[in-house]
Amino acid sequence: MAKLVLQPGKERSLLRRHPWVFAGSVARLEGRARPGDTVEVVADDGRVFGRAAWSPQSQIRARMWCFDGEAVIDHAFFKRRVAESVARRAAHPLLAGQDGLRLIHGESDGLPGVIADRFGEVVVLQLTSAGADKWRDAIIAALVQATGCQAVYERSDSDVRSLEGLAPVTGCVHGALPEERLTIVEHGVRMEVDVVAGHKTGFYLDQRDNRRLTGLLSAGRSVLNCFCYTGGFSLQALAGGANSVLSIDSSGPALETARRNIVLNPQLPGERAEWQEDDVFEALRALRAAGRRFDLIVLDPPKFAPSASHADRAARAYKDINLFGFRLLNPGGILMTYSCSGGIGLELFQKIVAGAASDAGVDARILHRLAAAPDHPVGLAVPEGEYLKGLALQVG
Ligand code: SAH
Repeated sequence: MAKLVLQPGKERSLLRRHPWVFAGSVARLEGRARPGDTVEVVADDGRVFGRAAWSPQSQIRARMWCFDGEAVIDHAFFKRRVAESVARRAAHPLLAGQDGLRLIHGESDGLPGVIADRFGEVVVLQLTSAGADKWRDAIIAALVQATGCQAVYERSDSDVRSLEGLAPVTGCVHGALPEERLTIVEHGVRMEVDVVAGHKTGFYLDQRDNRRLTGLLSAGRSVLNCFCYTGGFSLQALAGGANSVLSIDSSGPALETARRNIVLNPQLPGERAEWQEDDVFEALRALRAAGRRFDLIVLDPPKFAPSASHADRAARAYKDINLFGFRLLNPGGILMTYSCSGGIGLELFQKIVAGAASDAGVDARILHRLAAAPDHPVGLAVPEGEYLKGLALQVG
């Protein structure tokens, strides 16, 4: 096994059990390793930190599989890690029995570069690092064994793969997808999941519990759902007794799915739902110009700041939509606002939202601080994992 030798003094983050070794921390590689191969990570004085996956093309030059110098990284290692990850979900009372569930959440589950989401009988796998890619077969076999699923569909088409020198890969890698459209039930609402062409792995599972909260807060309210995708928040709002729900997204296919979701849920008053294919920034301005007002507004935009270097431009975009959000609220109205940008921390996000409230001339108070559901855990040593943050605010 090749040895990755760290620059002197560059072991600090590893001592905190942070799993990444950046290019600038690497003194040299002793021996030969191909992308994804396991290397031993050692300090310049010879102290051994553990085993990592080597990724020569990435700025993250190595990702730790374990902080144990003796561990063997083999099929059995992945079988164990995958089984533990699946078992943790099964043992959580809020997660057990969910048919839409994140089974593996990358670094925070000890499997850097591995995402696995379960939608009924199908597991969708996304591999985003050279190490994860190398162990594809072991990970797929472990998932099949741990879940008994009928099919594993690979959606390794995320842009971040190119940073690791990996080409996109998609397709069924175990079994076959069911003929009919795949659906899951989330807090009593049936939702279609397009694992082949939908965003990410097909569905934004991280917002599951926040969608439920929206439902609970929606009774008797007029709701505006911005960036609605397939209508997750919208349908929960209807289920919770909203008077009306206007949902906006720029994706035509997502809105078509949203309309099918209404049909899938005949128990809901679908006639109260209105869908608008539009750019949210423009739509918010138009709603303001038309003098429209709402009692509850959801803002769940895409990642405006993938990394800290995009934070400035992203901050303006967040400020903009939140300012309009506040201006469009009736007195006593609720704004549920999110950021899934890794580059914008909770503190900064709260500051941006506070700035928007003050520009809008409203007093607002935080009712709930929101985060991803517990099947998206955040490793304490990996704060980058805490990408989704949200605030539920009520205006005076
Ligand atoms: N709230 C959704 C997830 C939102 S993901 C849920 O609960 O499932 C972000 C969505 O924003 C995507 O559906 C994408 O199509 C949409 N989007 C991105 N940029 C947009 C824009 N400028 N205007 C409108 N929608 C946009």
